[in-house]
Amino acid sequence: MAKKVLKGMIIIDSELCKGCGLCISVCPHEMINVSEVLNEKGYYPAQFKGSSKEDNACTGCATCAIICPDVAIEVYRER
Ligand code: SF4
Ligand code: SF4
Repeated sequence: MAKKVLKGMIIIDSELCKGCGLCISVCPHEMINVSEVLNEKGYYPAQFKGSSKEDNACTGCATCAIICPDVAIEVYRER
């Protein structure tokens, strides 16, 4: 039987984010990119790419949240 692949999602607090790009560089599924909209502090924040179920390859591994220096990422995982 095939192993069930866990699905996840993240929420990035765009006002906490300073656009350092660390989360983008570590995501194994390339599920984060840079927003085209500036936040209040004048940074282009990171944004989650998994807007639809078909596009979402996030596994909820939490690597992005662990590396974020500003604790701007919350991770949710299917159980
Ligand atoms: S939880 Fe893992 S797979 Fe999902 S966006 Fe973060 S680093 Fe990528
Ligand atoms: S690691 Fe944190 S502060 Fe840096 S771009 Fe990602 S969400 Fe923003």
